[in-house]
Amino acid sequence: MAIELPRAVTRRRILEWQICTVVKVKQETNTVKTFTLEVPKWVPHQAGQHYDVRLTAPDGYQAQRSYSIASGPEQKGVIELTIERLVEGEVSTYLHDVLIVGDQVELRGPIGGYFVWEAAMGGPLLLVAGGSGIVPLMAMLRHRQASGSQVPARLLYSSRTYEDIIYRAELDQLHHDGSGMEVIHTLTRGRPLGWNSYHRRIDLQMLEEVIRPLGNGLIAYVCGPTALVEGVANGLVVLGIAAERVRTERFGPTGVT
Ligand SMILES: Cc1cc2nc3c(=O)[nH]c(=O)nc-3n(C[C@H](O)[C@H](O)[C@H](O)COP(=O)(O)OP(=O)(O)OC[C@H]3O[C@@H](n4cnc5c(N)ncnc54)[C@H](O)[C@@H]3O)c2cc1C
Repeated sequence: MAIELPRAVTRRRILEWQICTVVKVKQETNTVKTFTLEVPKWVPHQAGQHYDVRLTAPDGYQAQRSYSIASGPEQKGVIELTIERLVEGEVSTYLHDVLIVGDQVELRGPIGGYFVWEAAMGGPLLLVAGGSGIVPLMAMLRHRQASGSQVPARLLYSSRTYEDIIYRAELDQLHHDGSGMEVIHTLTRGRPLGWNSYHRRIDLQMLEEVIRPLGNGLIAYVCGPTALVEGVANGLVVLGIAAERVRTERFGPTGVT
């Protein structure tokens, strides 16, 4: 007879700290790297969830930050974390400047149950990202593709420059895969010659144009710097999207959402 564990016990087991090994490091842009980590007690996550990373210095000092899972749940045994190096950042500079393949790091997760999307939830899906806010949304897009979902989806992605676009090649590929997924870029600090998409901060007019083909029944996920997230969430409500259909995640300082 199968014994069902009480929810609290299951949760405690999942949230144990684990020693994970870096198996791959990929430079995504000048300031962003993706770390692939082998997780010994890997459990399937939901796209949009995050892990906590804990660093411990030889004198016992510890620093802890949250990082969204970039990989989809279909990629088993490992997780990918895509991390932007902040110039004065305590943890992100260490991860970028010190961590190499074969190193070990403490992780716990997956964490979070609100900012998540599964193919079974349907759509249409509106994803809006600023900078590294693309990470949890990329997990959703990877899950959408791996599960064969045809839910209509549009990603509006704001980056500083063309070179700062994270996952550029993969996003191009998703845009052209014929599954009903469209990527719309906007660049806020300069654009290459011949750029024919948006080149300003996200505003109400841009949002209106991007959501129009999806209709009012869309589910929105918005992630990035606080100002972008608040502006977009308020804008969507002004445009007639019910507030409960708009989920937000802020990558604020020191891990506060
Ligand atoms: C749920 C969640 C998921 C996250 N996922 C990711 C992710 O996938 N990739 C990623 O790169 N980051 C992500 N973050 C942000 C991450 O947790 C850290 O806040 C970030 O890496 C900075 O940590 P640090 O120790 O390098 O900088 P700190 O030493 O904490 O801060 C250094 C300086 O940078 C400022 N600062 C801190 N965080 C940010 C930020 N996010 N943007 C701009 N300025 C900041 C601080 O105010 C301070 O001035 C996530 C945050 C949350 C809450």
